[in-house]
Amino acid sequence: MATTLEAPTRNRIRPHDGPFKNEPLTNFSREDNARKIRAAIEKVRSQLGREYDLIIGGNRIKTQEKIKSLNPAKPSQVVGVHQKAGKEHVEPVMKAALSAFESWSRTSVEQRANLLFHVADLLRERKFEFAAWLVFEVSKNWAEADADIAETIDFCEFYSREALRLSKAETPVQMPGERDSLMYIPLGVGAVIPPWNFPCAIMAGMTLASIVSGNTVILKPSSDSPTIAAKFVELLEEAGMPEGVVNFCPGAGASFGNAVVAHPKTRYIAFTGSREVGLDINKSAATQAPGQIWIKRTILEMGGKDAIIVDVDADLDVAIEGVAQAAFGFQGQKCSACSRAIVDERIYDKFIEGLKARVEKIKVGDPAENANMGAVINEGSMKTILEYIEHGRKDGRLITGGERVTGGEGYFVQPTVIADIKPKSKLEQEEIFGPVLAVIKARNYDHALEIANDTEFGLTGAVYTNSQDKIDRAIREFHVGNLYINRKCTGAMVGAHPFGGFNMSGTDSKSGGPDYLYLFTQAKSVAQKIQ
Ligand code: NAD
Repeated sequence: MATTLEAPTRNRIRPHDGPFKNEPLTNFSREDNARKIRAAIEKVRSQLGREYDLIIGGNRIKTQEKIKSLNPAKPSQVVGVHQKAGKEHVEPVMKAALSAFESWSRTSVEQRANLLFHVADLLRERKFEFAAWLVFEVSKNWAEADADIAETIDFCEFYSREALRLSKAETPVQMPGERDSLMYIPLGVGAVIPPWNFPCAIMAGMTLASIVSGNTVILKPSSDSPTIAAKFVELLEEAGMPEGVVNFCPGAGASFGNAVVAHPKTRYIAFTGSREVGLDINKSAATQAPGQIWIKRTILEMGGKDAIIVDVDADLDVAIEGVAQAAFGFQGQKCSACSRAIVDERIYDKFIEGLKARVEKIKVGDPAENANMGAVINEGSMKTILEYIEHGRKDGRLITGGERVTGGEGYFVQPTVIADIKPKSKLEQEEIFGPVLAVIKARNYDHALEIANDTEFGLTGAVYTNSQDKIDRAIREFHVGNLYINRKCTGAMVGAHPFGGFNMSGTDSKSGGPDYLYLFTQAKSVAQKIQ
């Protein structure tokens, strides 16, 4: 168990090595890269089914009840067996995190940033292996898995630089006869509660932002993806993270997660997940528990019902490609996924014809073999998606897909396009979180914008048009946290596209942006009289 920051720092990138740069994505059409990922997949395959412990204050703990993480493409294959934290673990883990906070909050920001730089280096060395875990645990294809790990590296590099920048903050004015300073100090113990869909990047991003700011963390990963989180915590330890700074506690959201959120000593909650759970957490966090002396901070990133508007002036082929990628990348299981294509009636039929041909080229199958689309996350999710499709068949016109892919045990669903969906209908309003695209006909651009804005969400959106006037209007009127013009609405890059949504999509926390670490700190102003 690592207890010091003196761990080896081979190849460590130092902040003075230059400004932040995004980690390049791997080109798998190159045979050497394809060989490396295949080798990593075989290595990880040989490690499937291992058992992982809770980690509380550096202690490994076993529980009677277990969580089994299964491969969605082959559910009989166990990816990892995990302990299940219960309510009885809440006090011990809080005690460990509070105790670690005493020293970690006083550790210099340079040391904390160095920990993240070191983690980035280790991840670069094991990029293929980490990606391979995602192939098995959540059914990402090679490129999607690689992008998830690249984003994790980006968060290490970006937040460490941001913490160093924040540590040099100055007050805009110095009063005569005073030395005035402003410092961003840590908050305390945070509950970090990620979803399964970016099981490395989002889980790690909220954790890294927490610890580089000097907080300590109770990390409760999703029960669908605890193994990659266990691997990440092992990496933090290897990089020299002191005991108790990140405590690893898979457990049920409704019992353990809920109890941590409600605990009087929890200072903040960093959550990414569904609208329903986000709202529950918001409510619980707003209730003062006996002994609680602060207002809990909530950083809540939630669902989406993201739209791409295809205007009459658009380059149709480019728009079709963008819609297909944004709707069906990672089986449509991205908060940013395009689930509504809103298309001008003058090009509607041509768009549908082109989209049908493009979508029918998507190969569904085992992501270990690098099919375009893998399985959806679990059986419950598959059933929900198929129910939405049944609904869509009645409400609209099925263009392609519509079925579970049979012939194996995996949770494979065909990429599905349903046209003639009416504004305000179920398929047009509710987040499905699967490979289902609703196509909606708009009379004109005004109508398209009106439909696009008429849900309770506001996460991502895109417009395909060659008209500068219409681009300007979209910038003014399309009310989403992340707007894209003439490109797909998925694939936000750290630094370039700070990410977070409006309305019921969340608190617009803008992960990967220059405001993010303010959410994990509190500003202290000090005015000292100069004698
Ligand atoms: P989810 O809300 O079901 O679960 C998210 C996390 O919350 C899990 O770790 C879960 O165990 C935990 N949880 C559940 N109930 C809880 C409770 N009562 N108290 C505390 N924790 C609890 O979401 P999911 O299925 O894992 O992820 C999919 C959702 O996440 C989609 O709605 C998607 O849009 C959203 N998402 C949003 C963003 C974004 O940046 N806005 C990014 C990714 C995913």
